[in-house]
Amino acid sequence: MKFKRFDVLIVGTGISGIYAALNLDAKLNVLMLSKKELTLCNSALAQGGVAAVMDSKNDDFELHIKDTLIAGQYKNNLDNVRILVEQGPRDVERLVEKYGVDFDRNEDGSLALTLEGGHSRRRIAHHKDTTGKEIETCLIEQVCKLKNVTVINNSVLCRLEKENNTFFADVFTQSGEHEYYCADFVIMATGGIGRVYNYTTNSAIATGDGIALAYNLGAEIKNLSYVQFHPTAFADRKNHECFLVSEAVRGEGAYLLNCNKERFMPSYEPERKELAPRDVVSKCIMEEQKKTGSDEFWLDISYKDADFIKMHFPMIYENVLEKGYDMTKEPIPIYPCQHYLMGGINVDGKGATNVEGLYSAGECSHTGVHGKNRLASNSLLEALVFSRLIAEDINSKNISDKRTDFDEYVEYNMTAPDGKPLSDKAEIQDEIRSIMQKAYFVYPDYNETEKGLKRIKEIKQQLESGGYEINADYTETKSLATVAYIILSEIWERRDEE
Ligand SMILES: Cc1cc2nc3c(=O)[nH]c(=O)nc-3n(C[C@H](O)[C@H](O)[C@H](O)COP(=O)(O)OP(=O)(O)OC[C@H]3O[C@@H](n4cnc5c(N)ncnc54)[C@H](O)[C@@H]3O)c2cc1C
Repeated sequence: MKFKRFDVLIVGTGISGIYAALNLDAKLNVLMLSKKELTLCNSALAQGGVAAVMDSKNDDFELHIKDTLIAGQYKNNLDNVRILVEQGPRDVERLVEKYGVDFDRNEDGSLALTLEGGHSRRRIAHHKDTTGKEIETCLIEQVCKLKNVTVINNSVLCRLEKENNTFFADVFTQSGEHEYYCADFVIMATGGIGRVYNYTTNSAIATGDGIALAYNLGAEIKNLSYVQFHPTAFADRKNHECFLVSEAVRGEGAYLLNCNKERFMPSYEPERKELAPRDVVSKCIMEEQKKTGSDEFWLDISYKDADFIKMHFPMIYENVLEKGYDMTKEPIPIYPCQHYLMGGINVDGKGATNVEGLYSAGECSHTGVHGKNRLASNSLLEALVFSRLIAEDINSKNISDKRTDFDEYVEYNMTAPDGKPLSDKAEIQDEIRSIMQKAYFVYPDYNETEKGLKRIKEIKQQLESGGYEINADYTETKSLATVAYIILSEIWERRDEE
């Protein structure tokens, strides 16, 4: 088989993948892959913003570090937190100066920095409530201008193998064809794992493919059970589509109601009520579900003035209205949701994994900066800082200068992708999600974890037994099984630590 050769393969066109490409040396021949259209990713969904010390009069690195460690329950990698916090402002400035990102500004032209839960200072640079989309579209525009970068969308990386310092990639395209590429370096920037749950705020691409592919190559996967659950996502039970209903709605006085439309938070948290931290509110919702036996929950701000609601929450108001609920007149259905992954492919301070030549950035990576729980708006910052550091590390190897010859194609033997189609993809994926919902949603249920782990092992073995046609459906299903297996194994191994 002939594999078309590149210097660097970047898997993912979210903010981490694109920012890596923009920082790579123009002499390097780069291939970027996106599973779907370029902007279908978690990056484009980010609402709040990017956290960095941008106002040195009122903020400093030590405060940002302290806030990050408190949120992470001191399970963070302090060296990498320091890199994140100290280098972050430079990347935020670059977004504006080099790539034209438009952050909201005060009348005097300075950045309008906002405050979010867990931050002791105003340090969130943002573009209204659509920051991720603004950064993602600006960076895509820039990367598409680069002559050394080839961007291919609707193409799923299905297999990745390594021989003699070269990575060989099997890519399944939208037209049902396979394309074959090889590269000296691979940057895994494939995003989160939300789709391993029924309820998630994540984009449809978040099936953990990069984590599963790296795991199969022997990369260390760390703290995959460090999953963040948000208490209030709009819960459309019919199609399991969830979107975030910002914490600010509770901040402005919304009540949480159970299936009987009764307020329940004061009985769990008499002082903080609905304004208790995210993980606490999520746990109270799950306790209340056990009491009532129903997973129906509501968020009610309808007692406030309609104009106030529309002015403060225009996007949420419109989104919810589209789903048939007028939040100025009635409660809206909500439920906790998987939201973010703190663990992932373990990397060092330069984004390198234990597999030589393999790097990882963004949500699929584990730099350890978030510890057990992510501080709001630190993830976009992590995606920027560590993807740039990866690019700088690859640039420093000067491979294009050292190269004496460059064959456009390399011969390599990979097994044929043919086999029987995975006809029961939907059933298998539903079963995995149902296991994860029962075993580990907000907190672990060890009985369900033990049972679920046994069944997930069987599913994983069945998928790995060979004989299946290798395509997008098979890859995503196998990734979900692998991710579920690693998460539940970790939960089970740590059961005595709780
Ligand atoms: C609703 C929501 C709100 C958020 N708000 C904030 C916020 O305000 N601030 C903040 O800091 N963070 C926020 N986050 C988190 C943040 O957006 C993400 O962690 C971050 O954007 C992840 O970027 P990424 O580049 O790692 O992955 P993504 O942006 O998800 O990109 C992943 C890419 O990988 C590609 N891919 C995956 N698998 C394959 C494959 N097999 N083959 C080819 N390509 C593949 C996808 O097509 C996609 O291009 C939010 C997340 C969500 C869901």
